[in-house]
Amino acid sequence: MSEIKTIGILTSGGDAPGMNAAIRSVTRAAIFNGLKVKGIYRGYRGLITNEIVDFHTENVSNIIQRGGTILKTARCKEFQTPEGRQLAYDVARSHGIDAIVVIGGDGSLTGARIFANEFDFPMIGLPGTIDNDLYGTDATIGYDTALNTIMECADKIRDTATSHERLFFIEVMGRDAGFLALNGAIAAGAEAAIIPEISTQVDQLADLIQNGFRKSKSSSIVLVAESPVTGGAMGLAQRVKNEYPGYDVRVSILGHLQRGGSPTAKDRILASRMGSAAIDAILDDQRNVMIGIKNDEITYVPFTKAIKNDKPINPELLATLRKLSI
Ligand code: ADP
Repeated sequence: MSEIKTIGILTSGGDAPGMNAAIRSVTRAAIFNGLKVKGIYRGYRGLITNEIVDFHTENVSNIIQRGGTILKTARCKEFQTPEGRQLAYDVARSHGIDAIVVIGGDGSLTGARIFANEFDFPMIGLPGTIDNDLYGTDATIGYDTALNTIMECADKIRDTATSHERLFFIEVMGRDAGFLALNGAIAAGAEAAIIPEISTQVDQLADLIQNGFRKSKSSSIVLVAESPVTGGAMGLAQRVKNEYPGYDVRVSILGHLQRGGSPTAKDRILASRMGSAAIDAILDDQRNVMIGIKNDEITYVPFTKAIKNDKPINPELLATLRKLSI
């Protein structure tokens, strides 16, 4: 039997749609299992500055459909120091918190791993990031919503791109991972995606323009991951102006609107399943794992694996995009 009686929950790092659905699920599954819940505001910072309140079922009513995070999120430098983490530990213990569920990206899970090891303290992670860049899970919370937002924006840009017969670079998020750009391109029927995973191997722009990128098309849309490795949409547009002056090129940077909006059904269900699985993991005395879903089954992924391993791009997706853009 688990010794854990009280859990804390926090959201950290970049926000993602579906974090609220995850907070709701963790809270309700914990209470269902007889655990007490403490909501920790502003990520690790709230753990240091003692922004912690009791959470009951009504604290998480009417939030499943809301984007953002009711617990707020923050970046906290102090938590990266041993002194800061000691303070966080003391505050957690003063509230009787025996385990913490952290919803966030790889930075947040790195912090969770260090904290868990330092104090032998159970930490469970939920992958909350629109980038989908955590290893060991088919999808992260927020990814599907962001993908749908990108698709809708690209559809709109296509209307104007076609009217003017332009080449459009649409920049999407994903510093180290091209999932949003690649799947966004497939969903929007774009010509190509320029992604960091490939940028170090080939010159994707030259490849695109020299091989099969048809000037006769009435418009062309290319999705670009914001990474410095790809050069970003601005960098690529500048290159086109210099190297291929025949193109009428425009740029659209989608930016933070990709983070907002009501989560899709897929993200709400993913967050609900993962939140409930986090409590199962705690009751099962699991610690220092991220909850993943692989082939529709819940998995426990050790933090070290989730953070350190690069999640590969499926080459079949790249091949499909290429075939369909002729
Ligand atoms: P994300 O979780 O979205 O990747 P960040 O990388 O900004 O976002 O990380 C969020 C927070 O996690 C940081 O502000 C910090 O408090 C904590 N964190 C990140 N890396 C570390 C680390 N190496 N050690 C301790 N805490 C960390």
